Amino acid sequence: MVYEKFWSENPLIAKNKTEIWKLEKDGLKIFDDIPHYAANGFDSIPKEKWDMFKWAGLYLQRPKEAGYWMMRVVIPGGILTYDQQITLANIAKDYGRDVYDITTRQAIQFHWLTIEQVPDILNRLEKVGMTTAGACGDITRNIIGNALAGIDPDELFDTREVLYDVFEYFRLNEDYSNLPRKYKMSISANIHNASNAEINCVSFNPATKVMDGVTEVGFHVKVGGGLSSVPMLAEELDLFILPEKTVEVAAAITTIFRDFGYREKRHRSRLKFLVADWGPEQFKEKLLEYTGPLPDKGESAVKGWNAGYFYGIHKQKQDGLNYVGVNIPVGRLNPDEVIEFAELAKKYGNGEIRNCNSQNLIIPNVPDAKLEELKQESIFERFPYQPKKFIGYSVSCTGIEYCNLALVETKNRMRTISESLDKEIDLDVPVRMHMVGCPNNCGQRAIAEIGLQGIKMKNQDKKMVEAFEIYVGGTLNEGGKFNEKLKGKVEAEKLHHVLKEMILFFKETKLQSETFLDF
Ligand code: SF4
Repeated sequence: MVYEKFWSENPLIAKNKTEIWKLEKDGLKIFDDIPHYAANGFDSIPKEKWDMFKWAGLYLQRPKEAGYWMMRVVIPGGILTYDQQITLANIAKDYGRDVYDITTRQAIQFHWLTIEQVPDILNRLEKVGMTTAGACGDITRNIIGNALAGIDPDELFDTREVLYDVFEYFRLNEDYSNLPRKYKMSISANIHNASNAEINCVSFNPATKVMDGVTEVGFHVKVGGGLSSVPMLAEELDLFILPEKTVEVAAAITTIFRDFGYREKRHRSRLKFLVADWGPEQFKEKLLEYTGPLPDKGESAVKGWNAGYFYGIHKQKQDGLNYVGVNIPVGRLNPDEVIEFAELAKKYGNGEIRNCNSQNLIIPNVPDAKLEELKQESIFERFPYQPKKFIGYSVSCTGIEYCNLALVETKNRMRTISESLDKEIDLDVPVRMHMVGCPNNCGQRAIAEIGLQGIKMKNQDKKMVEAFEIYVGGTLNEGGKFNEKLKGKVEAEKLHHVLKEMILFFKETKLQSETFLDF
């Protein structure tokens, strides 16, 4: 393979232990080993093999030595059938201590799994056409899509087929299972940038171009976005891609990342560092070497950014059908609630549920005639479709409850603070708040209006305590701007008070309808 040649020509990589084991054995081969480890228990897994389980969507949760796993399940474009939801709910119930989390990439996560349970879980997932391959590891991760694909009055065209084609191309494809680092892609034709294009390694975004006198719909492509501890906004290539060329272009970009991406240092290995060094012109030139000539850019169809929020009841593009966007506080459900939603989706829609990258969900395909009855369902008292201004727009990463890298607790804290603010402050605009437990940014702190990043600090009594840095002003409107850090740090126990004072000041000083971002 090309990367083997690349590796042999780059002896510095020989110092990177991850790169060495990745060449000795492909990460996806862990699926062959799982039955053996499941039969022999956690203690039979050599420590140096722990990282390889990521290719099967498995991370050891905190503390690693206890032997409990987090499992992420791939959900391309966030679309789930009724059978898939019931299967996922039953896995969370039977094995996952009733925890079911929707992620910021439309996937779902279980916790508390043991290695002995994994074969049965994988078997159950396979029966309903689901996989964990590519959910974690140095590989193409879950592909983000427009949560309304195919039913969206605000989409240029239905992207489901293209997204599934790209997903199938990369799924279990060992030509692309040893990338320099994780690799995130989005494919959406929603005109409100529902897929957060600028923070993906590669994003396909809606555009038109007049070709031979005919207006064609397709994509513009951005490359090199990503968050983590060094956030970067993706750069647009001067290209127009017809939908039928998407797989070829995605494969070519991934090949460039595989063969030219940096492998010496893990923290410099994301595609964004290569794009930052090369620039969009050189990247385009290299891409065309693989694809042959492609048309230059046309007209972007993107108008603003909805941050992945679809709350309320709205008409679909199909006559007589509606979708309902519902708030799931910080993305966490229990299995009974998942089943309740599945049954609701079956009774009123076609059984489908769509996960949003705002950690919320959508019930699609509800006929006009059933809407009034649906609105009376008691589930909406707990999970409203017109949520309050703080909890409705709060996002949180996993945090110290399960994550080995976390410095602070996040999910319960974000929920408690947001629900308190909703009781205390009546605001005319929502405030998007994102909380993360460390600089890795899984909860997308950098694009929040108010970003809260966990740290440890010594308090006045010289005790090490949980604390937060506060960032303000993040957006992906008009190409995007990351939020900026305010001076100082706030002890976790004072965070609610500080946020309350900040928002009260905003409320008292702002103009009507003025948002926190514009303030
Ligand atoms: Fe863990 Fe940090 Fe990611 Fe939160 S942001 S899930 S604490 S790695």
